[in-house]
Amino acid sequence: MFAVHLLAFHFTKLKEDQIKKLFGYIADCLSDFMETRNLKQKKLPLGFTFSFPCKQTKLDEGVLLEWTKHFRVRGVQGTDVVSSLHRALQKHQDIDVDVLALVNDTVGTMMTCGYDDQRCEVGLIIGTGTNACYMEEMRHISLVEGDEGRMCINTEWGAFGDDGALDDLRTEFDRELDLGSLNPGKQLFEKMISSLYLGELVRLILLKMTKEGLLFNGKVSTALLTKGKIETKHVSAMEKYKEGLSNTREILRELKLFPSEEDCVAVQHVCTIVSFRSANLCAAALAAILTRLRDNKKLLRMRTTVGIDGGLYKTHPRYAKRLHKVLRRLVPTCDVRFLLSQGGSGRGAALVTAVALRLAAQRRRLDAALAPFLLPPSTLQEVRDSMRAELEYGLKRETQAQATVKMLPTYVCGMPDGTEKGKFLALDLGGTNFRVLLVKIKSGRRRSVQMYNKIFAIPLEIMQGTGEELFDHIVQCIADFLDYMGIKGARLPLGFTFSFPCRQASIDKGTLVGWTKGFKATDCEGEDVVDMLREAIRRRNEFDLDIVAVVNDTVGTMMTCGYEDPNCEIGLIAGTGTNVCYMEDMKNIETVEGNEGQMCINTEWGAFGDNGCIDHIRTKYDREVDEGSLNPGKQRYEKMTSGMYLGEIVRQILIDLTKQGLLFRGHISESLRKRGIFETKFLSQIESDRLALLQVRRILQQLGLDSTCEDSIIVKEVCAAVSTRAARLCGAGLAAVVEKKRQNRGVERLQITVGVDGTLYKLHPHFSRILQETVKELAPQCDVTFMLSEDGSGKGAALITAVAKRLHNVGQK
Ligand code: ADP
Ligand code: MG
Repeated sequence: MFAVHLLAFHFTKLKEDQIKKLFGYIADCLSDFMETRNLKQKKLPLGFTFSFPCKQTKLDEGVLLEWTKHFRVRGVQGTDVVSSLHRALQKHQDIDVDVLALVNDTVGTMMTCGYDDQRCEVGLIIGTGTNACYMEEMRHISLVEGDEGRMCINTEWGAFGDDGALDDLRTEFDRELDLGSLNPGKQLFEKMISSLYLGELVRLILLKMTKEGLLFNGKVSTALLTKGKIETKHVSAMEKYKEGLSNTREILRELKLFPSEEDCVAVQHVCTIVSFRSANLCAAALAAILTRLRDNKKLLRMRTTVGIDGGLYKTHPRYAKRLHKVLRRLVPTCDVRFLLSQGGSGRGAALVTAVALRLAAQRRRLDAALAPFLLPPSTLQEVRDSMRAELEYGLKRETQAQATVKMLPTYVCGMPDGTEKGKFLALDLGGTNFRVLLVKIKSGRRRSVQMYNKIFAIPLEIMQGTGEELFDHIVQCIADFLDYMGIKGARLPLGFTFSFPCRQASIDKGTLVGWTKGFKATDCEGEDVVDMLREAIRRRNEFDLDIVAVVNDTVGTMMTCGYEDPNCEIGLIAGTGTNVCYMEDMKNIETVEGNEGQMCINTEWGAFGDNGCIDHIRTKYDREVDEGSLNPGKQRYEKMTSGMYLGEIVRQILIDLTKQGLLFRGHISESLRKRGIFETKFLSQIESDRLALLQVRRILQQLGLDSTCEDSIIVKEVCAAVSTRAARLCGAGLAAVVEKKRQNRGVERLQITVGVDGTLYKLHPHFSRILQETVKELAPQCDVTFMLSEDGSGKGAALITAVAKRLHNVGQK
């Protein structure tokens, strides 16, 4: 067993000068208390019952809205009382306590009673002040995020009527009492009910009656003229069943009044009227809460328990009975049990604190698991700088062979100039779908691009079968498409978007360096993919094609956006995988002859980190994802940033958190064990701001994950941690590229456009924004415009083919 010591501090009665140094005084009391109990060496959590209206945004924070009752310490209103207490406690070197929960006395009462009776869902105080709390449905609390479950609402109903709602009920005595109070115009309901005021109301009535000659032969005493001379304890005494009458006589005599027998009966009557009105009003307000609870639960009849505390309710001889009876009459459909709170606010505060303590421990472990995903700016700068260094290695002749970021020349040297025209075929392999496209480009004034495409599935056994099977399948798809479009006879120029790292020696030659993403067909690595395609076409011997260009999807994306915006010199993909290309000065590309003009470099930055340079920021979850992948040790940056892996990282974290008992009640379900179950599209759905927690739970349910409301909050946090890190890492990489472009141009400020494609970028609710913010942060001298590419891999391939064709024709002439 694990025992927790809790401290609860509860204060009600303080003298004026003590109140002035309120928090210092509380700290002193606490220190004394701990001294006498021999607790000084212990570090203890503290629950603080503070029974004034506070605005709470969390359990351990509460901004005092207004003093009520007889408190009036200056400088406290509008401040957080927990941090004030915390500061005062810090001055006491000798004690070590942690304020974990700020608890209203109503809540403490409800918790205390709820510990004994699970049905307890209302807390009621009728003492010095009056107040109530109850469990409201989260979906009705617009101030707090979340739709699931319930939260305790502290009504602060004492202020009921401050807007004039009770004006018809208030008597001249209520008005007079209010004017003489510390807070005129405030807490009007409380002033008709609570024990701080009942005696005074009785005094004001007796005074008026006496002045009108109705009591004591019209003789007013000084005592009767003195505020506060009749207290609620007197009212209680006068209303006692047996001794009531003699009590009354004695009390009136003490007030130097000389009551006759009739005076005493009349005064008793006045007391009854005042205390009954209080009980009736309280019953009416409580009836409103109970009706609401019943409606929330959509019940015709409801059984419930009200936890109750407060001197007036407990000690007045007839108050409780009256309250119960009137309540029964007002809400006949509720069977209410009243449970007196034992140990009251102190015990309740301790219970709330114990719960808070458990939650705080959970929170710490959750934060610890997610901490490695929070990359501070300095780390991101390091990532940017290493990326920059890797870009240089890839371009230099001596280091190129060892470089992880391969910086592959694409032999794409020019952007479209608008004179391109004709019909082209394009293939798109390397994305989620394999597609064949027919692209019609018009030039001149009717400049436009029209596209027709067909999507074909590539079955897993072909993706991971032999190279021949893969290319035969591709050619089969092309044949289908040509038939479908009725263009089999035309020998059209073709651009082949092949989104894997290829070493090119010309625009129509591309040797596959290595498969990435989900592909693993044999006998392809080290081969020229254009040759393989040509051979497959020859094997089929049914049609011929003029393969003009092999194109990376990043390049296609850049080209597509470049067609609209000549300033676009970078292409970025954030989809299944991640990659970037950009226009580099020929003189910097040592691996290609020539120093004039520019050439597009396909960075293949997904492999960034394969030499271990970002291992210090990889988490154990990243390593698990890597080990379970088709290409362990490869594409480390891609595995932290792209759609194929983000969901899998989330799944690894969820498994770990479940093992730690922080999620799904510690139970790892069958479905959570399945690799790939958590797709990246679920991150997008779960992180959507418009989604209520209930909907998050529904998504998890579909995945076979039975979650509580707390679970779904944690899952959402995990998703956000993973996708935010991805966007920031990607942004850091891109900052390196734009900064390189700026230095190449030798300008103070660079205006540049990045063409972007990829579902992660396009559909995730926060990825693109965070990526853009990170680039701004890490490349402050560059103004980067992001332009979404529409089907870069199709349109772009056709444009590149068209440009190549145009240049080729020019060359031939
Ligand atoms: P590709 O990069 O394969 O050409 P996409 O750009 O369409 O194709 O990216 C597909 C990848 O995007 C999928 O592998 C998946 O991981 C991810 N994805 C799919 N739907 C979403 C979504 N709603 N939000 C974020 N990512 C998604
Ligand atoms: Mg794509």
